[in-house]
Amino acid sequence: MTPAEHKVLHGIGVSAGTAAAPAAIVTAAPGVDIHEAGSVDAEADGARIREALASVQADLKERQERAPEESKPILKAAAQLAGDRGLAKAIDKKLKKGLGLTQSVHDAVEEYAKMLEALGGYMAERVTDLYDIRDRAIAAIRGLPAPGVPDFEGEVIIVARDLAPAETATLSPDSVKGIITEVGGPTSHTAILAAQLGIPAIVKAEGILSVESGQLVALDGGVGEVIISPISEEVELLAERSRRRAQALAGSTGEGATYDGYKVKLLANIGTADDAARAATHDLEGAGLFRTEFLFLERNDAPTLEEQTDTYTKVLEAFGQRRVVVRTLDAGADKPLSFADLGPEENPALGRRGLRLCQIREDLIDTQLEALAAAYRKTSADLWVMAPMVSTLEEAKWFADKARGVGLPKVGIMIEVPAAAIRAGQLLDVVDFASIGTNDLTQYTMAADRLDGELAPLLNTWQPAVLQMIKFACEGGRSTGKSIGVCGEAGGDPLLALVLTGLGVGSLSMAPAKVNAVRAALRMHDLATCQQMAAFAVDAPSAEDAREAVLKLVNPTMLDLV
Ligand code: PEP
Ligand code: MG
Repeated sequence: MTPAEHKVLHGIGVSAGTAAAPAAIVTAAPGVDIHEAGSVDAEADGARIREALASVQADLKERQERAPEESKPILKAAAQLAGDRGLAKAIDKKLKKGLGLTQSVHDAVEEYAKMLEALGGYMAERVTDLYDIRDRAIAAIRGLPAPGVPDFEGEVIIVARDLAPAETATLSPDSVKGIITEVGGPTSHTAILAAQLGIPAIVKAEGILSVESGQLVALDGGVGEVIISPISEEVELLAERSRRRAQALAGSTGEGATYDGYKVKLLANIGTADDAARAATHDLEGAGLFRTEFLFLERNDAPTLEEQTDTYTKVLEAFGQRRVVVRTLDAGADKPLSFADLGPEENPALGRRGLRLCQIREDLIDTQLEALAAAYRKTSADLWVMAPMVSTLEEAKWFADKARGVGLPKVGIMIEVPAAAIRAGQLLDVVDFASIGTNDLTQYTMAADRLDGELAPLLNTWQPAVLQMIKFACEGGRSTGKSIGVCGEAGGDPLLALVLTGLGVGSLSMAPAKVNAVRAALRMHDLATCQQMAAFAVDAPSAEDAREAVLKLVNPTMLDLV
């Protein structure tokens, strides 16, 4: 390697940890065959394409078998998409118009993707899966090797433009020491999966595609730094950092608390009964956010009372006596429901979503609350139930009356809207607790679409305006003596967790894989330091200054965790 190849790139660190290994470059997609003839026998060509899609589906199912437990649902969803009848029909239409085989697949997928993108949020995230299926199908039709992760031996760092969830899900942390992508954002599936798998990862590392297969690459997923052709001292420094991180995490067990014993419950964010079963095996104190809408998405009708009771019972049983905070249906905007479609909206994120939708479709919330009450009666769970997207006192009351009416013991609201943060004291008067959804609270405070990667600097919970909102909410908690938690992504950031604790939050809910680092960070600091950090961060002139101010106050060992 010549020194000229040595290069440092900066991206967004999405999964902490360091590594150095040869690059394994993901094979690019083959694209449309520009020499292909148009279709003259749409039926026969349709059959060929279905065959290709079936082989893609079989491959995805086979990967699902091999994948780690937590990755299986994602592969299952991708396999289902490959067998989607609507997609096959859309392709038939293109063939009938006389387009060639690969062009038909390409154009039909393009239209389908636009439709999903227009739906936004969860649906829009499926687009990466869809493009992956397109590329695999086109490769199969053209008789070319499947695009994606190449076969490799030993340890590697995967380098790609973007990684489909299907690809990420099958990567084993034993051999894949890191993931670096040229595009992607912090909430992309790849980022979430990498963190779940515990593989250090960086997204949006522009320029990474200049590396060649086998070239040595190093990364620090905590700070988002990539070193192409690192010198041995750099590799050693990173390895040292890894060792220190492992050491800092080693003793991280038990209840969440600051150095001087101020307790902060550490909870898991979950979306399914399977998630609950997995999360419950971790050393954590319960679930702080069960996103129940995952039971409702991609269905043509609402799950029945029995179905819901069954799922909620499983979730509650998984956690035994531990706390489980269930969020009622948060549909609309980025999580549209086909059976509760209220028609197009100009600004869905500002529209009839969350509790607002349930006030229109009362049947949905009534059945859900009844199912939760039935599950509660069957178990000994510490069940807390809260509503999303609450803005007014009337909404909080409306929900509390309903939930208490069916016998639910602990009723709360999410604080995701500035209106609720500012008036938290009044809102908390009529409920038992509140949980701050920092993802939406950041989006609405900064008026920045949380799905728009270009707005990343605004979509940063370190923005002092957002921290000020959280402070308002915590003051409401203090004045009413009611519990306030955080269940947005911010809760899983060890540094922000200190600030949130200093602001007065009593629980933090996050991806289970993040609990250890947050617990270790809390243990290293006393409450007074957290409060000082919070004061400095809220008063800082910018998000960067807020973070810098906090970094100056941390225990130096903590730097290995961020
Ligand atoms: C949030 O908004 O922070 C939150 C936890 O809810 P979701 O991410 O599901 O909108
Ligand atoms: Mg939210």
